[in-house]
Amino acid sequence: MFTFQTNPLNRHGHNRHTSQFIRRCLQQANTRFLPVIRQSILSIEDADGKMQPLLLKQGELESVISNIETKHLIYLGEMEQQHYFTFRLKSKALVEGFAAVARHNNVVLTDLRQLFKHLSPNQAHLCNVAVALEHWHNTHQYCGVCGHATYATQSGFVRTCSNPQCETEHFPRTDSAVICAITHQDRLLLGRQKNWPEHLYSVIAGFVEPGETLEQAVAREAYEETGLPLSNIQYYQSQPWPFPQSLMVGFTAEANHDTVKLLDKELEHARWFTREEVRRESENGKLVLPFKYSISRTLVNQWLNTD
Ligand SMILES: [Zn+2]
Repeated sequence: MFTFQTNPLNRHGHNRHTSQFIRRCLQQANTRFLPVIRQSILSIEDADGKMQPLLLKQGELESVISNIETKHLIYLGEMEQQHYFTFRLKSKALVEGFAAVARHNNVVLTDLRQLFKHLSPNQAHLCNVAVALEHWHNTHQYCGVCGHATYATQSGFVRTCSNPQCETEHFPRTDSAVICAITHQDRLLLGRQKNWPEHLYSVIAGFVEPGETLEQAVAREAYEETGLPLSNIQYYQSQPWPFPQSLMVGFTAEANHDTVKLLDKELEHARWFTREEVRRESENGKLVLPFKYSISRTLVNQWLNTD
């Protein structure tokens, strides 16, 4: 299942900057708050190990953190007649307070990548937006134009420079990255980087450079990493990947020949696999495929399923 292909979240982009709209959301009893710190979500773990994000009522959030003002809240959106906000925790020490509020012993901060496998598509979507915005706020505390401090505005979707001579508005950043399933006849190319877990192989990926189209980035990255010229570069799907702030744009392409040369040494090894080899080696542990909810795994799976 490809988690991010549905869009259940109404972000109310045309309304969320108005105080009337936010006030209305905050007045609704079923509005919930998702505390986040860096790439981790405050979660509860059941006795059977199943995890869920801890979604708090406004009063529960305020009972742990005093002096919350509307400007500290980031509006995530509306899903199934419920509004959601995220709140950036300043300290991991607050977790115990939330455990008391939730009346649950196992309240833990969990890296979103570890949490994904427990989440419904709707929960995954919500957490993804929260983690992405947390990272952006965290790394854009100062104005890139004049160096003065910035502050959050427009329900957390703008940071405005505090310098009256500047007042530049900064918007959330997303880095474009391309990821491509390269095939040659009936085989798929998978590569691995030196620092990856043992036996983990994935499809070829890299960041888009300024002044480049997505297709040009696919062709350049493939050549730099594997020495392969490509044909028939086709868009497949995309996936937001907030670790820390990427949009992964998935492609398929065909290699013009099968002689691999690791030109930029970003990969320590790359190899052509038949479908039978991928199935057999991933079953016996000699090959570890990418994380189930990643677009890299989706690209591998769609190739496996088209024989
Ligand atoms: Zn400024």
